[in-house]
Amino acid sequence: MQAEIISIGSELTSGAKLDTNSQWLSIELSAIGIPVRFHATMADDRAAMLEVFQTAVKRSDVVLITGGLGPTFDDLTRELIAEVLGTELVLDKTSLHIIEDMFAKRGRVMADRNRIQAMFPAGSEAILNPIGTAPGIWAEVPRKGNSPCIFAAMPGVPSEMRKMYREQVAPRLPRGKQVIRRAMVHTFGQGESNVEEMLGDLTARDRNPEVGITASSATITLRIESRGDTIEDCDAAIAETKSRIRKTLGDLVFGEDDDTLESVVIAELRKRGATLATVECASHGLLSHGIAKASSSGSTYRGSIVVGDETAWPRDATSDPDLNLASSDGVAALARSCRDQFQADYALAVSPFSRPDGDDPPLVFVALAHKDGVEVSEQAILSDLTIARPRAVKTVVNLLRLHLLNPL
Ligand code: AMP
Ligand code: MG
Repeated sequence: MQAEIISIGSELTSGAKLDTNSQWLSIELSAIGIPVRFHATMADDRAAMLEVFQTAVKRSDVVLITGGLGPTFDDLTRELIAEVLGTELVLDKTSLHIIEDMFAKRGRVMADRNRIQAMFPAGSEAILNPIGTAPGIWAEVPRKGNSPCIFAAMPGVPSEMRKMYREQVAPRLPRGKQVIRRAMVHTFGQGESNVEEMLGDLTARDRNPEVGITASSATITLRIESRGDTIEDCDAAIAETKSRIRKTLGDLVFGEDDDTLESVVIAELRKRGATLATVECASHGLLSHGIAKASSSGSTYRGSIVVGDETAWPRDATSDPDLNLASSDGVAALARSCRDQFQADYALAVSPFSRPDGDDPPLVFVALAHKDGVEVSEQAILSDLTIARPRAVKTVVNLLRLHLLNPL
């Protein structure tokens, strides 16, 4: 059994809007063991739609369609499903009453055109839409010498589509033979190829669970995908793979699934009843934003100083007004002073970028201050600032994570 996702809309093919429905539906289908082999995206165009629909019947067993169910003339999905079925559109009175009701409840007059949304290809079924006017369509297209091809057409609006899929489409879909479960392990501190090399045969293509590697501004994530007969089998295999990854990578692993460096550090600080403050320049508030987001409430995060550029540092931020802040000593002084000012157990600092003469790349310095001293790290800015900033922030948060794991 294999599936295909069809996304309809000229706004998608023109590039005005990104097709997010296919991505979401593919993840959902694979979770119930139905592999997706094709994504097709096309304009609101009769010929293009007919060609794709007819091809889908030949090559796929489950076809999920989104978009083109609205009341306007460019919404062609229902007509094309009728054409594939070789039938006419007929009025479904129940759907019409539901749509009329929906308009009445909203105090709006129903345009004549909306009647089209109660028209369905003969032989198909309406799929209720509790939060919008466009019902979906469930059709089983007969195939010679094969089981029928299932067509489920849903509205393009992502929130309506998701609700309809979860509540009405997914329960009716056949289940694949294989269950697929996924998990993520996040690491920080080594590049993608180093991590891959350390993992050795764990990342082999034919392994089950399969382990893939992706990088996102210096966080290297291992994506584990397990296929098996039952959820329990898959979860056991994932747990075993995770434990091998952790054993191999040690402290490089900072978390799983929804964890971020900030969230794991805040959780550790909370456990100890310890507090944190931050000071930053080059990172434009990214450090304080990430920490504040992760702490959301409570007294763990005491506060931050964010300055736009070097000239704006508060005079008393360090005891030596002539100190170059874009240096190891400078950033250490900032971290120490921030820790004092906020009376926090820990302080993190990100310096301004240095302005080297000649061809040397600029540097950014980061520091962690704690009761026993200051730890400093520096980085050359070799990439775009949109990558360099989050990298500097993650580096300093990681200093604290490692310190909490292995205090001096
Ligand atoms: P439609 O059902 O074609 O009238 O689409 C209604 C709304 O949903 C429009 O704003 C579309 O841009 C949006 N939409 C349609 N298809 C998709 C898709 N595949 N991904 C994200 N948004 C979509
Ligand atoms: Mg549309």
